[in-house]
Amino acid sequence: MLDREKPGTKTFTEATPLLQKAAPIVSAQECQQHIQLLRCFLGLKQTVSKTKGLFKTEYVHKNKNELDQIARQSAAEESRWSIYVSRAVHRFSVWWTRLSVASTPGPSLPHSGWTWTGDQMPPLDVLMVLHALTLNTKAFGEDCFRHQKMALWNAGFPLQLASQYIDPESLRYSCPEPCRLQFENMTKLAWDNVNDPETLPIECFRCQKQTAVPWTTRRGKGLADDGFIQVCRWCNFVLRKDALLAQKLRRDLHLLLETNIPLPGTCWSVDDGLAPNETTDEFLKQSLVDLFLEETRPTNLFPNITQIIQASTEAVGSQSLPLLHDIFKHYLYVECSSCNLYTAVMRVSKSASTLQSAHCLDFDLRSSQVESLYTKSLRDQRQGSSRRSVPRTDITDSFSLFWSTHLLSPRSYCDFFRHLGNSVPVDWDLPHEPETCSLCQTLCPPSFARRFIRGLTSLSEWKEWLSTV
Ligand SMILES: [Zn+2]
Ligand SMILES: [Zn+2]
Repeated sequence: MLDREKPGTKTFTEATPLLQKAAPIVSAQECQQHIQLLRCFLGLKQTVSKTKGLFKTEYVHKNKNELDQIARQSAAEESRWSIYVSRAVHRFSVWWTRLSVASTPGPSLPHSGWTWTGDQMPPLDVLMVLHALTLNTKAFGEDCFRHQKMALWNAGFPLQLASQYIDPESLRYSCPEPCRLQFENMTKLAWDNVNDPETLPIECFRCQKQTAVPWTTRRGKGLADDGFIQVCRWCNFVLRKDALLAQKLRRDLHLLLETNIPLPGTCWSVDDGLAPNETTDEFLKQSLVDLFLEETRPTNLFPNITQIIQASTEAVGSQSLPLLHDIFKHYLYVECSSCNLYTAVMRVSKSASTLQSAHCLDFDLRSSQVESLYTKSLRDQRQGSSRRSVPRTDITDSFSLFWSTHLLSPRSYCDFFRHLGNSVPVDWDLPHEPETCSLCQTLCPPSFARRFIRGLTSLSEWKEWLSTV
């Protein structure tokens, strides 16, 4: 059996990685545990995808005669996994909201007085979402901050505990009974994702009553489908994605006004790291809150997030576009996190699907080399600040494995990053590309000429333009 560190003592070594020269930033053992965890997630994906009849995904593709049987089968597999992940994200949110990280002071817990205990481990699907969120360290920090869970930020991802519950041979994750009891009591959800109901109660934006909405429907209009649209059974209000987004914005505004919880996207600053930006808060309260509240009023039958973005651009002027961008990128998806959790999980699971059993066996031998390469790369960011030096997010090479394993200890990662002279840490989030960013297109629409070059202009628009020249 492996010699495992106690969670309490681990916090010490994580907090001061640079003072203890002998200790590696990330141990080879932790990298191995991380690989094992990723394999476990991969196993979950394979099992879910291959479960025939799950979420009735066969129906969705039944009528697509143009697809041959193999293509239809793989489409069904993909949509099973997609629905499963959407449900996992919801389950994670319920669990996250109710997870108590209250302090119990003790001499061995320097930061917060909270650490993971064995009976707090959630089901594998929820753990998978937590893992993806932790890799997005900026979003994770902001979520912990906004939801008063900084103790969780200090404690980091429970990698040691997770690996204790994964059988090294079968890669099956099995928790002791107290975990199940605690999770089911706390969340009122089933331990196993697939045993949760086929519908989810959604609060109507207009009448505030609950309507049971299916996760998926034959015509692809369920909550986990692209074309989500449902009607409130009480007042016939049309529930669409935009209504959910407006509702989310309104909820966040109330949090800002009533309890001073900053809006997502306003917690990190280049100078102070993770701390609410008071200037931004004041600016928002003075210039935008009234507009936002008006645009998201529940009597508005057709809330439209694009219109809200455009109206706020006009209200504050172009110098505030970066601020609006930071805020509105969190209103392109419905989850109440600073991370687009669904996308984050999908990226990790795609990246992990290329894992080979052989590639990490030689990791032990080269770990010190990887460590110096890693330190150099993060240091280079401060000097060159070229986007090229950002580590690539392919979890299967040893460099990225080292990096992503370090990200699982946010406190250590952030301290290390600041020690190197950088401020806002680089994380798993995709680099921003204005050319393909839909939000940039809304905030500052490209000129006709640029749209034409990129083929976004229709023939009639083009003719119209020609006639004016
Ligand atoms: Zn209603
Ligand atoms: Zn953008």
